[in-house]
Amino acid sequence: MCPDDKFVAMVNAKVEVDLRLSDFTPRSELKVPVHTIKRPRFPVIDYHNHLDSLEPEAVLPILDACGIEKIVNITMRTGQEALDTLDRFHRTAPDRFASIGWMDWTGIERPDFVALTLDRLEQLVEHGARGIKFWKDCGLSVRDASGQLLRIDDERLAPIFDKAAALGIPVMFHTADPDAFFTPIDRFNERYEELAAHPEWSFHGAPVSKAELLAQRNRVIARHPKTTFVGAHIAESSEDLAAVSALLDQNPNLYVDISARAAELGRQPYTARKFFLKHADRIVFGADLLPEVEMYRLYYRMLETADEYFDYPTHASRQGRWQIYGLFLPEDVLRKVYRENALQLLNLSPC
Ligand SMILES: [Zn+2]
Repeated sequence: MCPDDKFVAMVNAKVEVDLRLSDFTPRSELKVPVHTIKRPRFPVIDYHNHLDSLEPEAVLPILDACGIEKIVNITMRTGQEALDTLDRFHRTAPDRFASIGWMDWTGIERPDFVALTLDRLEQLVEHGARGIKFWKDCGLSVRDASGQLLRIDDERLAPIFDKAAALGIPVMFHTADPDAFFTPIDRFNERYEELAAHPEWSFHGAPVSKAELLAQRNRVIARHPKTTFVGAHIAESSEDLAAVSALLDQNPNLYVDISARAAELGRQPYTARKFFLKHADRIVFGADLLPEVEMYRLYYRMLETADEYFDYPTHASRQGRWQIYGLFLPEDVLRKVYRENALQLLNLSPC
């Protein structure tokens, strides 16, 4: 053995050859600028969050620390519980909390279900709701009285969307999920670790494809031009911003929120920046993560700085194994995305 061989053998001996994927957490050696944005360039409205389980008093200091003027609680409760939840938040700080109601499918088998729903919408609005959310159960699991899967574009639901327009409230759609949730949980799946941790989130093998679900939703948006719609999570197509851009072009009554999609936007900074510049009037800020100071600051870093290759805000489990880049959005775009577009949706005038 010559001296060089000995050196190579010594190095090899230290290599962990059987490292598990879940234990692989490389640290970046990049030396690039790091900007911590403690407070956003403009006051922020978090248009998409879920606060039912929290005490409003506990949320306020976090909002104050992060420059958040107002937060929208999309209640996941229904019936009297939903009304009580709305009251609880609005009573505590009417200027800081707004609410969106949750579509209640209780009684779907009743012949008067639609009339019942219209009454429920009126009640929600009387209690201060500024919108109604249709979740992904619509299209994937809600069944009508005959046991058939209820299509999102089922004409029987049309009066509900018209009623929202009459009440002046937007309809939020969270239809489907990321593309990777509809493909097998295997070594090719770009969200393998997330789905391995939460296999119940997968829709691989679901009775309806993602393309079909989005097509049903898009038909509703086109059929109800007087109703304002919000496509949650970038209309569930953040992997294909060209498609979202076309959808926004086709439907002036559609907005999108960016909640829970920082990972997707920040990994395609050139495309995402162009998307924000083109549709600055139709994109609203939202987190969809429990309010936390560091979480909000990562969103601000992505939207405001040109920083490179940093962690995205997320729940405990990561969405995909990649890092993100800042979009350095100009001030006029930030002002609209952070605040002004949400004020329009909430039917509040800017001051
Ligand atoms: Zn949500």
